[in-house]
Formats: sequence, structure tokens, C-alpha cells
Amino acid sequence: MPTRTLVGHLKICDGQIVWADEDAYALLDFPSGSLDDMPFGDVLAPAAARLMQVPARGAVDGRSVELHGRHESLLVDVRGERMEDSCVLWSFTLTARGGRGQRLELLSRHDALTRLPNRLPSIEELAPAHPPEDEVERMLAVCYLDLDRFRDVNEALGPAGGDAVLREVARRLKAAVPNDAAVARVGGDEFALALGVGSQEEVEQLLEQVLARLAHPFRLQERSTRLRTSVGVALMRHGEQPTEVMLQHAQQAVFFAKRAGGGQVHFFDAGQAQEQQEEARERQRIQVGLALGEFMLAYQPKVDMRCGRVIGFEALVRWQHPQRGLLQPAAFVPLIEDHELVERLGDWALGEAVRQAAQWLDTGTRTSISVNISPRHLLRPDFIERLGLHLARYPQLQAGVLELEILETTAIKDFAAVADFIVACQALGVPVVMDDFGTGYSSLTYLRELPVAALKLDQSFVRGMLDDPEDEAIIRGILVMARGLGRKTIAEGVESVAHGDALMALGCTLGQGYGIAKPLAADRVPDWIGEFESAPPWGRADGCA
Ligand code: C2E
Ligand code: MG
Ligand code: MG
Repeated sequence: MPTRTLVGHLKICDGQIVWADEDAYALLDFPSGSLDDMPFGDVLAPAAARLMQVPARGAVDGRSVELHGRHESLLVDVRGERMEDSCVLWSFTLTARGGRGQRLELLSRHDALTRLPNRLPSIEELAPAHPPEDEVERMLAVCYLDLDRFRDVNEALGPAGGDAVLREVARRLKAAVPNDAAVARVGGDEFALALGVGSQEEVEQLLEQVLARLAHPFRLQERSTRLRTSVGVALMRHGEQPTEVMLQHAQQAVFFAKRAGGGQVHFFDAGQAQEQQEEARERQRIQVGLALGEFMLAYQPKVDMRCGRVIGFEALVRWQHPQRGLLQPAAFVPLIEDHELVERLGDWALGEAVRQAAQWLDTGTRTSISVNISPRHLLRPDFIERLGLHLARYPQLQAGVLELEILETTAIKDFAAVADFIVACQALGVPVVMDDFGTGYSSLTYLRELPVAALKLDQSFVRGMLDDPEDEAIIRGILVMARGLGRKTIAEGVESVAHGDALMALGCTLGQGYGIAKPLAADRVPDWIGEFESAPPWGRADGCA
């Protein structure tokens, strides 16, 4: 009786598969949810049983599973090793005896869903046996296709609908490329092509057709879904590099296609790839810095210039880098803006700001703190829940002590989500202010619907207002509009007493800027408030408390 064995590894962190042997991944399709809470046998046995079409009878003790079919049996041996608290590395061996062994072998090379191979052929397999003379200079293009926002499609159509879309993508891909091109499904929503071409233009033309076909609406469950696809391409003389290396290059290139907005083709560029690797290293360093507590918040005062009172502080993140010194956000925030790390940094900043506000309160300084929230962070489904948890740790803090600043550009991009976000924050006693206002061209209608507590005039207009009549006109316009809509305004970039005077003359009395104070270390704040309020630069107008 023939025997076939498949050995695989899966690394599961926080309930998600983060790494798997391609074979293993293709063979097992997993239920979503918290996998690492489950004995692995419970996950593997049904998945393997389904694929092997043998009834899952027999012993499942969490480590070793034996499945028996009518004519043959499948033996699953599982070993797990806990790597970190949230990660487990599982290795397993599937042994099939009897006729199903063939199916196991097929499955180990083919993706069960689309029936495509799960890897590209090797260079040797791709090379024509006897290349014609004039074909010697032929090149090989390896393309990595990644469906944009496929997660949304899956959510909208459900897993079965998502599977149907993937099968249709596979079908369209095969139909769109020449017969001798290789097509593979190399990941969940990732496909690869390998084809011989004569020039870059030839690949471009072909991919244009491929993308057009994939962009046709998919009709499913009486709904129509559209897909966009990003493509990375590695193009080389045939045989110069193994297909796996070219595929890695193509995968690096797809990152740039995605970053440029998706739905496009990007060719691999070695310099760019190196830059990307450096950025990845730098991100890793940020992650380490967060774990080591190298980040801190500086606090820049916001004042009522007319009354000479401090109204609160803006928390601005700084990185005390052990080698590079104190780094400003411009040196590291842009690197993580599109990355999960920005959520962690933001969450840390929220926790730190409420801790600081509570500490000041304990020592008699009652003031509010505003925290900048990145677009990606605020759209996180559990943002409000986390915000509530941070606040719950300090019940002594009153409503309004914590404030959030969000960018005008975020509000324009995802209006409905941002409107819900603002309402939910308000319900927790956290007002939301629109930062850098004037840079995003938001329409008046939008603004009327967004319940923001205040608009923060962008510093570029404020700084220029003394010399540039156009900047002054923009500020004037924003102030009139804000007044009409009943929104407070605060100016950032108040670089001098003269800026403050000019703003007050236009009716804007709240300000923040170097002319008042640069961002301060937390321990300077209580004294600074006393110093400022005892001798405010603009005096104290009539009627102020
Ligand atoms: P922002 O929220 O618009 O913050 C104001 C920036 O302007 C701060 O720069 C502040 O130091 C600077 N500034 C204030 N007054 C003046 C002035 O009179 N003249 C000039 N030239 N500059 C002034 P900083 O600290 O470098 O922060 C830059 C940006 O980084 C912030 O812009 C904000 O968008 C972002 N950022 C800061 N902290 C965080 C954070 O914790 N999380 C996130 N996601 N972003 C942050
Ligand atoms: Mg801000
Ligand atoms: Mg700003």
C-alpha cells in the first residue's frame, strides 16, 4: 500500500497564521478566530479530513490525530511549541496510506480552492528545451499580483463569496495570459505569473489586459463587486536568477504599487528595494523603542491670548533615540503612517497623556491635553473601546480633559466613519478638534455635518499672515465660516506677539505657537502655567476672569 507524507509548519500569532510552508497553507484552509486558543488537533483534523474526504473518526488528543477512512487512513502527527506568549509554532506530519496518497501529493503542490499550482515552476522547467537562435535574448517576467482590499470583499460577500471570487480570478488570469505562461496562487489573495517576453512594453501591454479583465464586475449573490489589483514585476534575462528570487523581487515591487494607491503595475528597482529594507529595519527599531520606553511626550501650551489664560496642552511625541538623540515626529511618524505601528504609537500616546493628566491633577495642576491621532489609528474598529479603557483607569479625570486632534484630510476621505468616530468620542467626554484646517479643501457641507469641537487653523497660513494678504484672507474666511457654523477656532504657528495681535484683531483669540512657548517637558508644565498667567504677553482684556 503506497504511503505519502506531507510535513508542514505553521506559525500562529494572536490567532492569525503569520507564516506557513506553502504546502501546508494550501492543504489546510483554516477557520478564522483564535486559532492559538484551540488544540491544534481540533483545527487540523477537520480541515485535513475535509480535504482528504475521510470521516474524522479516531483519536484526537490535541497532539496526535489518527483519521481512518473506509479503505485508507490518514495519520496526522502534531507537535506544538510555544515561542512567545502570543505565538505558537506548530509542526505536523500528514501521512496517507492507500489511494488517497495521490490526492495528498496533488494537494501539496496545488491550491485546493483554485486548482492552480501553489508555486511557480523553476527556471529549468520554464526554459524551452531547444530555444530557437533568435530567442536567446528572451527575458522572463515574473509578476506578483495582489488584490487590493480583498478583505473588504470577503467581509461583504462572506467566506464562500470570497472563495468564489478567488476561483473566478484564477479563471480570468488563465484566460488572459498566453498558453505557455505559468500561473500560480501563492497566497490568500496573491497570484503569480511567469512568462517569456521580448521587452518591458510587451509585459506592460499584457498586464494592462490582465488588469482590465480582473476589473470587470464579479456578479455574485445578485451583487456586483469590482476588484482592483496591484502588480509587481521582476524582469530579467531568462535564467539570470531563479524564479523564487524573481518572485521575491516582484513581491517587493508590489509594495510600491500598493503604496502609490493600488490598481497599478510597478517594476522592481534594486535601489528602491534596498530603501524599503532600510525602512523596514527602521520600523523594527521603532517597535523596539516602544518596548524599551524610548518615546516621550512634549507639551505645547494652548492659550486664550485675550484673557492671558492657559487652556490646555498639545501632546507631541518625541523619540529619545540612544544613538541619534532626540528625534522629532517628522523623523519617524511618516515611516509608520501606513503601518500597524502607528496604532501602537497612538495607543501609547493616549495612555501616557491620561496618565500625565492624572499625575498633574494629583499635584494640583488641572489642565487638558490634546493627542494627535493618525488616520489609520482612528479607523481601527476597537479604537473607542481602547479609549474607554484608558479613561477608565483614571476616573478622577473630568470630561474634556482629554481631547483628540484629527486631520482634516482624514475626515474628507472617510466622512461617514469619521462622523461616527467623533460622536462616539463625544459620548466618552472626549472632544475632537480638526487639525491643520485649511490644507484639505473640505467642503462646507461636510463640515456642517461633522460635530468637531474646534478647527485648528493650519500654521502655514498663520505664519504667513503678517506678510501675505492671501494667507490673511484665508484666515479671515475660515473665521467667518467657523463662526457661522458655531465652531471654535484656534490658531497654531503663533510665532510672535504680533501674530497674536493680528489674530485677535480678526476675532481669533485662542492660539498656540513658538511665540507663546515651544513644546515643554512634562515637569516644566506646572511652573510654566504660573509664569505665563502672572504676566501674559497680551495683557488681560476687560471682562476676563
Ligand atoms: P501638528 O499636530 O500640527 O503639531 C504642531 C506642530 O507644529 C508641532 O511640531 C509643533 O512643535 C509645531 N509648532 C508649534 N508652534 C509652532 C510655531 O510657532 N512655528 C513652527 N514653525 N512650528 C510650530 P512637531 O512636534 O514636530 O509635530 C509635527 C507633527 O507630528 C504634528 O503636527 C502631528 O501631526 C505629528 N505628531 C506629533 N505627535 C504625534 C503623535 O503623538 N501621534 C501622531 N500620530 N502624530 C503626531
Ligand atoms: Mg496637532
Ligand atoms: Mg497642526
